[in-house]
Amino acid sequence: RYAYVNGRYVDHRDASVHIEDRGYQLADGVYEVVGVRDGRLIDEKPHLDRLDRSLRELQIAWPVSRQALSFVIRELMRRNRLRDGLVYMQVTRGVARRDHAFPTTPVKPALVLTTKNTKHVGADTGPGISVKSQPDIRWERCDIKTVGLLPNVLAKQAARESGAYEAWLVDADGNVTEGASTNAWIVTPDGELVTRHTDNGILAGITRGTLKAIANDLQLKLVERPFTLAEAKRAKEAFISSATSFVTPVVKIDGEPVGDGKPGPTARRLREEYVRFADAGELV
Ligand code: PLP
Repeated sequence: RYAYVNGRYVDHRDASVHIEDRGYQLADGVYEVVGVRDGRLIDEKPHLDRLDRSLRELQIAWPVSRQALSFVIRELMRRNRLRDGLVYMQVTRGVARRDHAFPTTPVKPALVLTTKNTKHVGADTGPGISVKSQPDIRWERCDIKTVGLLPNVLAKQAARESGAYEAWLVDADGNVTEGASTNAWIVTPDGELVTRHTDNGILAGITRGTLKAIANDLQLKLVERPFTLAEAKRAKEAFISSATSFVTPVVKIDGEPVGDGKPGPTARRLREEYVRFADAGELV
């Protein structure tokens, strides 16, 4: 298996960056995760658009052109024979003597890519997952996809230690913002499909964006608004979305069953349509 590190395809076991990389010392960097199904990249363009936005927000320059990055993604997939899985890409501000402020003499941003093979990700939702609520203790720029993920790491770990797969983060008003690495959705007893509006409080998930378009096509009653943990526990259905999990039903919140405790029809339908959308993507 290969990794890509600053212009080279290297054996994954030998892939390394400098100890004074600002990503390593200060989490001064951003990343993207793009899903791959049956050899097709899912939503490459919006992922690269979001990368562009994250970089601009942090005043980090593109390490290579966008076109070159697209090429590197494909070349790494080819070398690693990636058919189902993920492409991870990370840009950090670069290598400089440690100082919180940006380097005064410009440094070259560091670009790293890896791939991960997973089992074929299909239309079937599986049995669903449990989530555990955790206080959302993150900063006020959760719209930037930065590698500074400690609050997410701690929340996910707490969830896993309790036997849950994902953490649902709850803000000071009692609203569920999103998951530790996924967006959060519910279907209310009146059949409203609800996910939190995007602002600096959550990451605008690419999967979330595609599901919005699908929900519109299906003429579902989609509402973007905050919802409380209590409302989620009373919901008919709940699910998460991300490049990794597609649409995955939530069947338990803090140990209490959601609806009848089984994956619901809305999550199943959205996942089917999402897979159909992925299948229509460009073969790499
Ligand atoms: N929210 C957070 C905090 C995330 O880290 C992620 C993805 O990793 C998501 C939501 C889902 O985003 P996407 O659909 O682009 O994978």
